[in-house]
Amino acid sequence: MRKNIVAGNWKMNTNLKEAKKLVKGVRKGIKKLELDSTRVIIAPPFVNLPTAIKRAKKSKVEVAAQNMHQATSGAFTGEVSGEMLKGIGVQTVILGHSERRAYFGEKDAVLKEKVDSALTQELEVIFCFGEELKDRQADKHFKVVEDQLKKALFHLEANSYKNIILAYEPVWAIGTGETASPEQAQEIHAHVRTLLAKKYDEELAESVSILYGGSVKPANAKELFANKDVDGGLIGGAALKAEDFIAIIKSI
Ligand code: PGA
Repeated sequence: MRKNIVAGNWKMNTNLKEAKKLVKGVRKGIKKLELDSTRVIIAPPFVNLPTAIKRAKKSKVEVAAQNMHQATSGAFTGEVSGEMLKGIGVQTVILGHSERRAYFGEKDAVLKEKVDSALTQELEVIFCFGEELKDRQADKHFKVVEDQLKKALFHLEANSYKNIILAYEPVWAIGTGETASPEQAQEIHAHVRTLLAKKYDEELAESVSILYGGSVKPANAKELFANKDVDGGLIGGAALKAEDFIAIIKSI
């Protein structure tokens, strides 16, 4: 059975001191929780990864990176490779976040390369996808999501999906305070599962965790997670306060 996952994307937030405090808060907060079928992941900025890994040791908190370059090494000033992440003990990497797509020009073709590179390094991938407001207004959201998945993931063999987590993040709901309704989230998640079943098979479609992301907060997490195809969340703003993040984990 697929796992529930609550992942915190810290984005470009937390200096070293804040990162230490936040890891401690999350660690402490989940200590007494029954988390047998739920994974808890945090994704601090690159520079704070080693500290977060050290401080999350011997706890259920897993540490992920927010991005990586597709090459293993080379003349790519300012970039970090999957091999480097793997080398410091990172197991999971977020790819395709809408902020990477919008502000750093990451297109489907490069995301495909990044996914391949991450899987080659035996990193697990949290792959983000989702439509913009204009797509939804034009009733193109199903098509946009389908294209994003097809272009970056559907070349993979079925076997690779044991290392793929999907995160539906409608761009209009990220950091805006506006959340997709539970029905809107469920509808896309179910659509994605149908696409996976068509391309691969039913069993694979049922085995992949699909997270929702976009203004998830303690106040709306429960109703989003209650949907049968929503297996948890990718949390931005609310992951920066241990208390809120824990409340969201408790909602699953
Ligand atoms: P948000 O961000 O929760 O602040 O909307 C979600 C994300 O970008 O992953």
